[in-house]
Amino acid sequence: MNNDATAGAVVALSDTAWQEQVFAAMRSESQRFTIPRRQIIGWIAERTAPFSAEALVEAMAARNEGIGRSTVYRTVDWLRAEGWLGRVGGEAGEHTYARTLPGHHHHAVCTQCGHTLVVSGCAAVEALSKALAQQGFTVSGHTLEIFGTCQQCQL
Ligand SMILES: [Zn+2]
Ligand SMILES: [Zn+2]
Repeated sequence: MNNDATAGAVVALSDTAWQEQVFAAMRSESQRFTIPRRQIIGWIAERTAPFSAEALVEAMAARNEGIGRSTVYRTVDWLRAEGWLGRVGGEAGEHTYARTLPGHHHHAVCTQCGHTLVVSGCAAVEALSKALAQQGFTVSGHTLEIFGTCQQCQL
């Protein structure tokens, strides 16, 4: 985890913490904590770059344990719906995903290695909401995901 006090409200998302939290969430809905799902989540936790659902399908097929496309897609859909995966914007047609935390957070995702910074609070968006209110626009919600290159990938 990030021990840098100067980082303020921005914290790095640890892969192991992510996996532990997903497992805990799945255990609380016991029917979801199946071996195929644990394998899929384990694979995602090890990713060092944003991944596509098709890459995940291929990786599971290569393991020869009968984890099929529909299981992979259902798991990805569940993870997305629960907020454990976010879509990484890319110019290419194929969507890629990166680990995120559920709840209202803003994420900054490194498009090269998938490293995720979690931003708590909406200070930047609040300033924008005020500017919009001056134009008579009432903001009812927002999403904001930031993409870029992490410190490590710039070395
Ligand atoms: Zn990176
Ligand atoms: Zn927000």
